[in-house]
Amino acid sequence: MTGTLYVVGFGPGHEDHITDRAKKALKDSDYVIGYKTYMELVAPLIEGKEVISTGMSEEVSRAQAAVKQAERGKTVSVISSGDAGVYGMAGLVYEVLAEQGWKKDTGVKVEIIPGISAINSCASLLGAPIMHDACTISLSDHLTPWELIERRIDAAGAADFVIALYNPKSGRRTKQIEEAQRILLKYRSPDTPVGLVKSAYRDREEVTMTTLSEMLEHDIGMLTTVIIGNSTTFFYDGLMITPRGYTRKYTLTEEKQPLRPHERLRPENEPWALHGGQPELNEVEKPSSLKELGLQALGAIEKRKSAPPAIKSVFEAAVSPGVVNKNFTPQQMIAIAEAAGEKGTIEYTPHHYVMLKTEVSNPEPIIEKLRAAGLDLAPVGDVVTIKACDFCDGEKGDAIPYAEQLRDDLGGISVPKELRIGVNGCGMACYGAVNEDIGIVYRKGAFDLFLGAKVVSRTAHPGVYVAEGIAPDQVVPMLTRIVEEYKESGHPNERFFKYFKRVGMVEGFAYRETPVPEVEPMPCGE
Ligand code: SAH
Repeated sequence: MTGTLYVVGFGPGHEDHITDRAKKALKDSDYVIGYKTYMELVAPLIEGKEVISTGMSEEVSRAQAAVKQAERGKTVSVISSGDAGVYGMAGLVYEVLAEQGWKKDTGVKVEIIPGISAINSCASLLGAPIMHDACTISLSDHLTPWELIERRIDAAGAADFVIALYNPKSGRRTKQIEEAQRILLKYRSPDTPVGLVKSAYRDREEVTMTTLSEMLEHDIGMLTTVIIGNSTTFFYDGLMITPRGYTRKYTLTEEKQPLRPHERLRPENEPWALHGGQPELNEVEKPSSLKELGLQALGAIEKRKSAPPAIKSVFEAAVSPGVVNKNFTPQQMIAIAEAAGEKGTIEYTPHHYVMLKTEVSNPEPIIEKLRAAGLDLAPVGDVVTIKACDFCDGEKGDAIPYAEQLRDDLGGISVPKELRIGVNGCGMACYGAVNEDIGIVYRKGAFDLFLGAKVVSRTAHPGVYVAEGIAPDQVVPMLTRIVEEYKESGHPNERFFKYFKRVGMVEGFAYRETPVPEVEPMPCGE
């Protein structure tokens, strides 16, 4: 007769976060064994059960009692808060079993039932502080030498892990958290975001946002998990957030402009990866044996050991000689070349700008130099871009001030999907404003307005000709309202023409179908 032993993690403390499997195990159990406080947390689920609850440092006797009852043929649940396999009862139960020569196939049946550990439940209340490589460190030195804990804190600090400190402090253990702070300050800024979560998803839940230098000024106890951000973690609107990736991309706006999906995995867009941005090089250096691979890895670790990981940043900007001017001077070309440096790229685009991309830790000096050379810099990505003609080298220059004002007012604003506003200075519209997302064409002292061109694909079409003769002083406020509406109400990634079609009416202008030529669908569909 063999019984069953469930080791159940019941999550942070609220019934909503207990899995169905855990509930079922508790329901099927004859005995439920656990630490007193935890029994109270799951009280409604264990009514009518035989209960063995013991005090704090009596884990071993709990595990032994559980094994004993299971061996008598009973079904027993041993409960742990969070996940039973994280500083919980799971390992201990197996240790007791192993001690007496238990075998999986012949001994009592054991099932470990996973639960939500504090690192996850506490993170969810803070925002998204884990996100990247993270580790848990228990500051309890009751069963672990302090020297080892210290080494782990140091290593995690040096390697820029997000760190969740479990068991950070108790009535008697008060110095450990101070030591942890001291060690981490060797590697991280005093302003590093820190989240303190006490009693997550329990009655007396408390969430505190603080920093590495100030965290000790707040209440930290046995029911607290301390989450320390990595070097990229930031606070935003009361939330603690660690970016998903390490490299920051600078554009000229505050907001980050991620690469478009198809560009993300290109080696040149990942200069920080093992391939160093140059896949061929990696091929050449391919290790010939596993041993060589190991040696290479060790070499790399040795090299990096001393220095904390540097955060590389890619600066990218749309560079042009001006919204109206189309001529680069040799000095400007030199300034762009110098800004790109050895590793950067200068890409010729169809949008009246060259795209400059380069790796920098601080983009400010580059921006200053380019601007000093008289160049216009604009962010790239899902932002508003003003694309004007050259107004016949200024000869037909009446509309120039409006192009410039649009650039100043709307250029660089982030929108659901890249949005180009074409401004052409005469009815010839030879720079194709009618084929931009929004086009304005200056004619007889006023503007014609085209909305919602489909800019690319074989079913591309011009914008709907929605108005003519808009008074010049009305045009900038009108386009501002249109852009604001699209920014506010467009779905993420929804191009302006799709938005216009979906809502049917923008700024009082109705959407009209543009005749689209019949084309055979492409193999991958359209
Ligand atoms: N097995 C548990 C951890 C037990 S160690 C788990 O996976 O979560 C005890 C420590 O866990 C506490 O000192 C505290 O740091 C953390 N902890 C557990 N539950 C918590 C909760 N609801 N809120 C905040 N911290 C918690």
